[in-house]
Amino acid sequence: MTDVKHMKWWGWGVDGVAFHHEDKPGFAPFVKKAVGLDLWTAERTEKPDFADVQVAEPIAPAALLAELKTAVGDENVTTDKLERVVHTFGKSLRDLVRIRALKIDRAPDIVVYPADEDAVAGVVKAAVAAGAVLIPFGGGSNIAGSLEPHADETRPVISVDLGRLRLLLDIDEDSGLARIQAGALGPDLEAQLAERGWTLGHFPDSFTHSTLGGWIATRSSGMQSDKYGDIADIVRGFRVVRPNGTLVIRPIPSASTGPSVREMVVGSEGRLGIITEATVQVHRIPEKRVIHAYFFKNWDHAIKAMQEISESDASPSITRVSDGNESGFSLATSKESKGVSKFVQDSLFSFLEGRGWKPGEICLSFIGFEGSPDHVKRTKAIVDKIVKRNSGLGVGTGPGVLYDQKKFDTPYLRDFLLDMGAAGDVSETAAPWSKLIGVHDAVYAAANAAYEQIGRQGWIMSHLSHSYHSGACLYFTFAFVMGDEDPLGEYDIVKGAIQQAFIDAGGTISHHHGVGLEHAPWLEQDISTEGVAVMSGLFSSADPDGLFNPRKII
Ligand code: FAD
Repeated sequence: MTDVKHMKWWGWGVDGVAFHHEDKPGFAPFVKKAVGLDLWTAERTEKPDFADVQVAEPIAPAALLAELKTAVGDENVTTDKLERVVHTFGKSLRDLVRIRALKIDRAPDIVVYPADEDAVAGVVKAAVAAGAVLIPFGGGSNIAGSLEPHADETRPVISVDLGRLRLLLDIDEDSGLARIQAGALGPDLEAQLAERGWTLGHFPDSFTHSTLGGWIATRSSGMQSDKYGDIADIVRGFRVVRPNGTLVIRPIPSASTGPSVREMVVGSEGRLGIITEATVQVHRIPEKRVIHAYFFKNWDHAIKAMQEISESDASPSITRVSDGNESGFSLATSKESKGVSKFVQDSLFSFLEGRGWKPGEICLSFIGFEGSPDHVKRTKAIVDKIVKRNSGLGVGTGPGVLYDQKKFDTPYLRDFLLDMGAAGDVSETAAPWSKLIGVHDAVYAAANAAYEQIGRQGWIMSHLSHSYHSGACLYFTFAFVMGDEDPLGEYDIVKGAIQQAFIDAGGTISHHHGVGLEHAPWLEQDISTEGVAVMSGLFSSADPDGLFNPRKII
């Protein structure tokens, strides 16, 4: 079998790594206050037993299996139960709740591991001839329901795992363009680029377990998008295997060649074919990289500062600020500070409170700077002035170092809460600057009304990240203790209220998580009936038999 590694079948990340709160003294009291859950006494569920997972027998006609084996080699075709389960879902809360309840309505029937583009073409040819469904699989980290086969699918379903296509093929050093295979995971891809002094600069929170092809197929965005752009900006060309050949987009810096086919493939969630490689913009590894932390008196001041930074000449790599609730959460997840650092922290907060700052309103911000030491110095000076003008306060690099170190560990927190019956999930949007505070307030009101409707104590918090000339992304995290009877019904009420508030207040249904099945009900309100009609026409003409990841997005 292949050497492709996957995440835990029942949760995030790798076996043996989990979130712990014992070394974070503020965390248990914070959770108790936020959602009423006592971490010290709550009963924890055991990891589910794989033997209990029920999966229907695969639909795997012998002739199809033989063709697939010819395409990718006998050992790279499997109908093994664990392989099928691992390839069924992404890692949305809905996915995690169902897998823990051992509830799989429809798993893929066959998993294949092609090693190159010819093998992918062989798989597509065999599937089309047999009328089988093809679902490309990257890291399986999506949280929009972009992978699972439809429950009533009667055709054979093949999960095409791109994990063996993970090489950096070439760098055009004159142009800063790298050709990379689509199945490369974030760390693999950055390590290969770093060996030659380059970086892609795309660091989503899921970086360790997501792939280049998945980023393109979901229109992903990384935490340094302010400098490097979203993946839609970074990807300049690619190769996509389709039934009648390969769709090739060459890496031209900009072109006036009608509606952009490149843009049609970006965000297509596997519906237009299988991306085998992409040509992406890469950058020389910056000489200096530093993240500074700032405090703002409240959300209004903080947002104003972020807007001013986005219109200034500063061009930082990260602009991120948490609202009062999320800042409180961040401080509660810090490890115990002792000695001098505890003294400094306590003195800082009494100083701020003395100036009339209120603990629940104070906003913690991280601003990243990258480039030559001169550039970093100059851009930081611009930011510092803006922060001061908006009555903010710089507190140095210490908290930024901590943020940088723990950013890829936070995803484990969701599994930890689920162990104790609490749902923790996220929804994100983008809106023009003029509407951001309105969106923020509307989402809070909608979430709190939803909690009241389901009769649960709930929590909501938010941060701004990914700033643009005309607006920014707002990222919300919500949590509540679910009831036993209909946990997903309760979740739907809260999640649905938040998504609807995005639309009603002038935001989009997703800035960077894609549509999948999860956000599809709101697509028409977002892009209009005619917009959906154009997209529908694209999918039905490009894939008339609905073989490529059918029913995702629309
Ligand atoms: P998968 O989940 O395997 O697939 C996603 C979709 O892309 C599917 O429709 C699949 O069919 C299609 N696809 C995958 N590979 C190909 C290919 N080669 N050709 C054609 N279609 C393909 N997203 C962000 O953008 N930014 C974040 O900061 C971020 N943080 C996250 C944190 C957590 C804890 C989690 C669970 C998710 C996060 N996500 C984030 C969402 C997720 O990581 C992204 O959607 C990511 O781009 C998915 O990549 P993947 O390789 O895991 O794709």
